[in-house]
Amino acid sequence: MADDDATPDITIYGTQWCGDCKRAKQFFGEQRVHYRYVDVDVDADGMAFVEKTNGGKRVIPVIDFGDGSTLVEPSNAEMAQKLGITTEASRSFYDLVVVGSGPAGLTAALYAAREGIDTLVVERAAIGGQAGITERLDNFPGFPEGVSGEEFAERLRKQAERFGVEVLGASEVTGITLDGNYRCVATADGCTHGAYAVLLALGSTYKRLGVPGEEDFIGAGVHFCATCDGAFYRGQDVLVVGGGNSAGEEGLFLTKFASHVTIATRDPELTASKVVVEKIAERPDMDVLTDVETVEVKGDTHLEAVVLKNTRTGEQSELHPGGMFVFIGLDPNTELVRGFVSLDTQGFVETDSGMHTNVPGVFAAGDCRAGSTKQAASAAGEGAAAAIAIRRYLAPFAGGMPFVDTAGQPLTMV
Ligand SMILES: Cc1cc2nc3c(=O)[nH]c(=O)nc-3n(C[C@H](O)[C@H](O)[C@H](O)COP(=O)(O)OP(=O)(O)OC[C@H]3O[C@@H](n4cnc5c(N)ncnc54)[C@H](O)[C@@H]3O)c2cc1C
Repeated sequence: MADDDATPDITIYGTQWCGDCKRAKQFFGEQRVHYRYVDVDVDADGMAFVEKTNGGKRVIPVIDFGDGSTLVEPSNAEMAQKLGITTEASRSFYDLVVVGSGPAGLTAALYAAREGIDTLVVERAAIGGQAGITERLDNFPGFPEGVSGEEFAERLRKQAERFGVEVLGASEVTGITLDGNYRCVATADGCTHGAYAVLLALGSTYKRLGVPGEEDFIGAGVHFCATCDGAFYRGQDVLVVGGGNSAGEEGLFLTKFASHVTIATRDPELTASKVVVEKIAERPDMDVLTDVETVEVKGDTHLEAVVLKNTRTGEQSELHPGGMFVFIGLDPNTELVRGFVSLDTQGFVETDSGMHTNVPGVFAAGDCRAGSTKQAASAAGEGAAAAIAIRRYLAPFAGGMPFVDTAGQPLTMV
């Protein structure tokens, strides 16, 4: 994504200790914009460029856009504007506001807009959600050769925009409130977008180990989804990190492709269910390493080695798997709606079979929804189902009827 892309025009000049430099790098990373990074603490030419740009002063980050223009210590809004990202809505009220632009959000948006429902999509990072950061989607129907995540995201965005969906990028939703029939969606820049209905398509985030190298090799040896990426490791050895049910089950699944699967857990034994542990023990092509912590991932352009540390002895060793799959849990991106809609014990949004939450006019679809299957195709399917349910919810409005009765209770839709 960053640093080593073949032709990055954009260069960020900064240092390791500078918080604004980290923010700028994170912003470009989230927007999937390629850049080169120069650490001016170790690069004299870089420091000279910074000083020249600032009339002799050392103000960082300096961002050189390669077209003769630079930004010095810019805000996120300035960077978004420079990159041509739309962050301002054209109106203050829509029929539907969709929060999140992954496959669930954009599919719902295009279904809704195609039926004449005025729809705004608000996205805090790059358009396309997790599907956009996927190296290659090999299992989305309709793409027999597979499709890169980036291309898939771009196609979704274009299709939604063709039907008139308005899409805001780099805009984080910070709160949702109710005002009678209206739902008010507030963003970090201080704007509020009104609507009759809101779709939560917030997705979820695979928990990461947070060790050096992990981030650099995501999609290039480091993976978080066996169904998605297991087939890339046909005939190779793979390492699974984690000791619970998902690590065990995904490890077993990976034996369909890999020649050998090693599970590494930091606990003294697997914490997966008895059935899963027994199945693993029966397999000659699986083994389990206990009391080991992953401390580093090494490689050049692809993962080459994983450094493990024995938690009892402190001794370090290296493994050289073809790929590493991390299964240490999944966090739904639902902090925003905690206390607003009903969540299950793990924080996923609870809905009825029509994707409706317990709050009238607030729907949920995709990976953030309790019971979802965490796949791009099913997220898109849930988005379509939610749009149809939302259309039904909005129908009385088209006839001029209120959504709530005089006591503020939701009307029952048929
Ligand atoms: C590395 C990787 C590889 C994968 N490979 C595959 C694969 O090969 N095949 C497959 O089927 N699936 C794959 N998946 C899973 C697939 O990408 C997800 O199941 C799918 O993207 C879920 O769609 P979604 O719309 O529910 O959520 P997401 O795609 O996660 O989109 C949610 C969006 O909501 C945004 N958001 C969250 N909170 C806010 C907020 N407060 N304000 C504004 N925006 C917000 C997020 O930034 C995000 O863009 C992969 C996932 C990853 C991470």
